[in-house]
Amino acid sequence: MRRFILTILVAGMVILGGARIYADNADPNAGSFQSSFFSPDSTSDNDFQFSGASQRPNADRLAIPHNTPTPLEGIRWKKKKITIYMETTDPKLKWAFRDAVKKWNKTKAVQIRWTKDEEKANIIAADGDLARNNTGNNNVGYTTSELGSTRTEYDPTTNTLHKATSTLDPNQLDYTNKEFRSEVAQHELGHALGLAHAPEYEHSVMIPRNIKNGITKNDTKTLRMLYAK
Ligand SMILES: [Zn+2]
Repeated sequence: MRRFILTILVAGMVILGGARIYADNADPNAGSFQSSFFSPDSTSDNDFQFSGASQRPNADRLAIPHNTPTPLEGIRWKKKKITIYMETTDPKLKWAFRDAVKKWNKTKAVQIRWTKDEEKANIIAADGDLARNNTGNNNVGYTTSELGSTRTEYDPTTNTLHKATSTLDPNQLDYTNKEFRSEVAQHELGHALGLAHAPEYEHSVMIPRNIKNGITKNDTKTLRMLYAK
């Protein structure tokens, strides 16, 4: 019995060690809709710094450009052709995700297409009550904002994304307009593509608070750099 339990624990550590999980962070100070939708990066992100082992030369390691206008997480999908599965059945959120996919595809940096196969999909477009989902342990962080959250799993030794789930909260977004819902979806899919939060002074859809715009020229340029090869 003891041996059996040990096997499960080791297997769990291997799985968790191979994938960093990132998500938006809860903002306890969220006041009005327009002032603080998304919080800054979680301090728990420090738990997931790349280890020395991941710095060794690796033939499978994907190149991540430096000095992009919008900051990067240091991860990306292996191919530009990315699939997404619509898990939510909420009509408003479906529209937001569809519109956000169209807008990211317009950058021509990636080609995101919808699939009916949830198992094989790279990205899952989901809905959920994000207010309840904000604790984690040493290896897995579920940190969320009021309106949107993205959880990514990747291999830090190759910078390769394995799975991303972008979640929008239908209750929080119900009272906003459709353009804004699309912008929140664009922000979350930005995380799902490898973009990190941009500083407040930048012109980007990846600013964690005060989302005032959709994908900008800076974001387009960044994604083209990230998926150039
Ligand atoms: Zn975010």
